[in-house]
Amino acid sequence: MDQPDLTPLQTVRARIAHAATIAHRKPGAVELIAISKTHPAERIVPLIEEGQRVFGENKVQEAQAKWPELRERYEGVQLHLVGQLQSNKAEDAVQLFDCIHSLDRPSLVSALGKAMDKLGRQVPCFVQVNIGEEEQKGGCAIAEVPALLASAREAQIPVVGLMCVPPLGIEAAPFFALLAKIAAENGLDQLSMGMSDDFETAVMLGATHVRVGSALFGARG
Ligand SMILES: *Cc1c(COP(=O)(O)O)cnc(C)c1O
Repeated sequence: MDQPDLTPLQTVRARIAHAATIAHRKPGAVELIAISKTHPAERIVPLIEEGQRVFGENKVQEAQAKWPELRERYEGVQLHLVGQLQSNKAEDAVQLFDCIHSLDRPSLVSALGKAMDKLGRQVPCFVQVNIGEEEQKGGCAIAEVPALLASAREAQIPVVGLMCVPPLGIEAAPFFALLAKIAAENGLDQLSMGMSDDFETAVMLGATHVRVGSALFGARG
């Protein structure tokens, strides 16, 4: 599908639209989050000028260094946090981000709940699920999802859906399908899944948010 006369952003958008159409979904039902981690502002600006407004970072400090200035220059930028969040950075995250994709444990529920309450700012969150049950990987165990959702509700955190990063090196589709099933069982309709190597598969399996970095920016240094 790569066409030399298209920019990487146009190509990714076309691939999302194509996958959505095949799956009888509306292309507009899928939000493309451009993951700009490790890339400096001058690499990000061309994408903003091309019309992209939704970006994702995986580190609070890096985002604090890069984004306030870009947001002053460009209207309508939305910033998503897609990386592991330490509880002691919860307040900074609530202040800076418009959506958090990595709510994955009770201590973070409590830290984010307090931060949102204190700042009077309700930031939509995805509960990240350790969908491959991998050791040392971020995300809530599958069996613990209902309890974590209940405690998030109690803390008045707006949980909008589930997020996952499937195991590396094997077919992602079964993990995307499993995440969709767990979300449906828990009455959640948004799914943050799919990265540069597998976003079309994710779209066909119901992704509402795809997180695409290298297909837009090239390889990270
Ligand atoms: C870096 C990252 C992405 C983007 O990965 P690419 O393979 O570069 O598209 C998506 N999600 C998370 C959580 C990431 O950390």
